Amino acid sequence: MVTCSSWGFTPHRELHAVAITALPSPVFGFFKAHQHELMVRAVDADKRKHSVKEEAARHYIDIDHYSVGIPQCGWHEACIRYSEDTLRSRGILPWRIERVYNQLVVEMSNCGVSDSSEASLDRVLRLSADLGHYIGDAHVPLHTTSNYNGQFTDQIGIHALWETHVYETTRAYWSGQRIKAVYIPDIRDWIWSRIMSSNANVKEVLHMEKAVRKRVGAPDVWGYRTRGRTLSLIPTPGFCEEYNDSLGGMVEKRFYMAAEGIASVWYSAWVDAGAPDLENGLNKPKHRNLMNELSHFLRALFPNQKEHVGEAPK
Ligand SMILES: [Zn+2]
Repeated sequence: MVTCSSWGFTPHRELHAVAITALPSPVFGFFKAHQHELMVRAVDADKRKHSVKEEAARHYIDIDHYSVGIPQCGWHEACIRYSEDTLRSRGILPWRIERVYNQLVVEMSNCGVSDSSEASLDRVLRLSADLGHYIGDAHVPLHTTSNYNGQFTDQIGIHALWETHVYETTRAYWSGQRIKAVYIPDIRDWIWSRIMSSNANVKEVLHMEKAVRKRVGAPDVWGYRTRGRTLSLIPTPGFCEEYNDSLGGMVEKRFYMAAEGIASVWYSAWVDAGAPDLENGLNKPKHRNLMNELSHFLRALFPNQKEHVGEAPK
């Protein structure tokens, strides 16, 4: 799979905004303070596909290529079982999520230890945004199959229909759901269970599109849309709505499931990192750096003097 993106840019960004609302107070303040950046960076992983050759394979896994199933295993064990080339050709989404999760735990656990807190803050935000993106993708059924765009079943275009056009057409009518982050004790098990639950929906996603298309009196499937100076052929709102109804609101359900998953994974990474004080450890880089700079400056001026700068005021 190389041509399809994931949830469109808007849903990916909204997923992060909704995920933040589900966080408990020890981390809510930090993520809320950086909401804008987390939303902007929510789609960096998709943008990287243009510049990083390995990036595309990180957004999906073709479960159907593992005809006898695939065990939950780490990257090293999977490489031994299937070879790295095979894994990359079938997509490496679950291992990518686990890897970025572990990187985020390490980065958060360094909070307040390193002097370069500005760089550390940047890494925490980048990893959190990427992690949220990959988890969003893991909740899209068509990211778990080789027939990702209906190309084997005469349903080309179904990828964008499910994750972009149904979202855009129905989003205004969603009732909203209460979601709450929970601690995930076994991240690998959680990743695989979410991916398998997405995969379990593939059949229905494909079947219902055909069923709606063939129904007598069904709305036109395709229509032209003008945006600015661009004319494009996209699924009609009527078709999107009927398809959404036929799936029983699956897109909305999986959107909120993804948002809750993102919040839970961010929160779990923080717990596994030893519950650091992110707000004070990362949010005040300028003050910390100023003190360091002053201290270096005075040390250079008075090399033989005992240092008193940097003590906390009593
Ligand atoms: Zn993606």
